[in-house]
Amino acid sequence: MSFGGHVIRTRKIGIMGGTFDPIHYGHLLAAEESFFALDLDEVIFVPTGKPPHKKTRRVSSTEDRYTMTLLATLDNPHFKVSRIEIDRNESSHTVDTLREMRHWYAPDSIQFFFITGLDAVLDITTWKEYTALPSLCKIVAVNRPGYQVGKLEQLPEIFKGNIVPLEIPLLSISSTEIRRRIESGKNVRYLMPELVERYIYKKGLYKRIGR
Ligand code: ATP
Ligand code: MG
Repeated sequence: MSFGGHVIRTRKIGIMGGTFDPIHYGHLLAAEESFFALDLDEVIFVPTGKPPHKKTRRVSSTEDRYTMTLLATLDNPHFKVSRIEIDRNESSHTVDTLREMRHWYAPDSIQFFFITGLDAVLDITTWKEYTALPSLCKIVAVNRPGYQVGKLEQLPEIFKGNIVPLEIPLLSISSTEIRRRIESGKNVRYLMPELVERYIYKKGLYKRIGR
């Protein structure tokens, strides 16, 4: 893009959305691999507010999830954390977040890459206004144990050419497994950054209620 005689390079920004309850090495690896594979300028982690898909279980407070995300990304200069969804009162929807974030930048000066695991992307037709997503971002689909990349073929035609499959080293780590282990007093070392683990113990997160 040319602007007043200067050539402005399009900035490529990765968006890593998640509940991050807690954040773990699976999330960090997905973001870091995307950063290098797609030559991104930065990756913005966006912890969800009240997650629309997770109404069935008790989710940790937005402040705890935000703090853990901050602690986990602290030492990486190209990782940032945004409060955009947690500061919103209603449920978070990716489409609204991307629309709002676009206004932070000069028109046509950025390209968004929404980073998701295969499990999440295969669910995309349940997301609010999912047909609008291809005009807002490219979707990076990183592999995750238990999900087949071939399944991407089954997504609607509008996503053809919009989804970038990315193979990353498989990490069989999930927040659910971490919560379960903590609840039953099992070891969780090396599944997430040490600072996150210490924060969980300090705040007494994921312990069975009434114990
Ligand atoms: P939960 O078990 O509570 O669903 P989770 O580990 O799946 O937690 P989320 O916050 O739901 O974590 O996921 C945020 C994003 O990170 C999603 O797109 C998900 O697919 C991706 N992701 C999570 N864990 C991994 C992993 N181990 N490898 C690759 N991607 C992952
Ligand atoms: Mg999940």
